[in-house]
Amino acid sequence: MADLKPDLLQHLDAVPAGLVDCAASDLHRVLAGPTLLHLKGKQNNTLFLSVMLHGNETTGLLAVQALLKKYQSRMLPRNLSIFFGNVEAAKYNQRRLDGQADFNRIWPGTEYTPCAETQMAQQIVDIMANHNLFASVDIHNNTGLNPHYACINRLDPSYQQLATLFARFVVYFTRPRGVQSMAFAQLCPAVTLECGRPDQSYGVKHAYDFIDSCLNLSELPTHPVHPQDIDLFHTVAQVKIRPGINFSFQQADAALQLDQELEKMNFFEVPAGTALGRVNDQGVLPVEAQDENGEDVSERYFELRDSELMFKRPTMPSMMTLDERVIKQDCLCYLMERLQG
Ligand SMILES: [Zn+2]
Repeated sequence: MADLKPDLLQHLDAVPAGLVDCAASDLHRVLAGPTLLHLKGKQNNTLFLSVMLHGNETTGLLAVQALLKKYQSRMLPRNLSIFFGNVEAAKYNQRRLDGQADFNRIWPGTEYTPCAETQMAQQIVDIMANHNLFASVDIHNNTGLNPHYACINRLDPSYQQLATLFARFVVYFTRPRGVQSMAFAQLCPAVTLECGRPDQSYGVKHAYDFIDSCLNLSELPTHPVHPQDIDLFHTVAQVKIRPGINFSFQQADAALQLDQELEKMNFFEVPAGTALGRVNDQGVLPVEAQDENGEDVSERYFELRDSELMFKRPTMPSMMTLDERVIKQDCLCYLMERLQG
């Protein structure tokens, strides 16, 4: 590993002045960069939280701020460690800045080549592995119309129990690699929370209540979740726009004109033959779908018919968004299938 930048990670063991009240865009005034904060509690095991891995996803920060206020004058029920992620991108209300690694793809198991950010993530995992972990929670928002749901990367009962403490919609996935919850799943029950859009205050309340429950729960149940209490889905493909294809929701002359109602498909089982948009070039599928082994499964899920891009088989999309920047930086959507418990 040649020539890595000096450590990105800052360390704190007390809540710094100004943290509980500052706006996400001002976080950089309080924290010098990505920061790991350790707080002592009554029980000698540790809840690990990460927030703001994506700089425009503020719900986790707002929930943590409310929680830190609650426990300002009383002791935490158990130790709490919090990682505040992409402070720099938060300044500009961006998921990540151009030239920055995606902070939710850098964790051990990542497919990125080693860089300052992957080194930082490894460092955090190494540190937290020595903190007698109770559970790990990574808090996100998304841009489309999605219900609140939790993601897990292992199917063990305690992981499903932790997830259903947040929502009955639970998504199990093993790709993309390098996400926080996948790295921490090696150490303790771990979830990613998807709390809807950042501007929704009930998302903050929901995340806050969940974290507070995690702090106060004596232990996580280890028996299986009752099938009636969970809707468990498995991600079967990640869908991206094929590189070089120009797409748009507005311009009719784009190679792919996407349907403006796309996000209404999120978490609905849509039938084969459902159209996603119109194509101007009949030659090639304008999207590519990769399964969890990285295999191209585009032809399995999509087809072109009468100048329309459509689903070839029934599926359940998630994370469909109308935000073209997100589609370029991340993906168009994920496709899911129901997992029998
Ligand atoms: Zn995110």
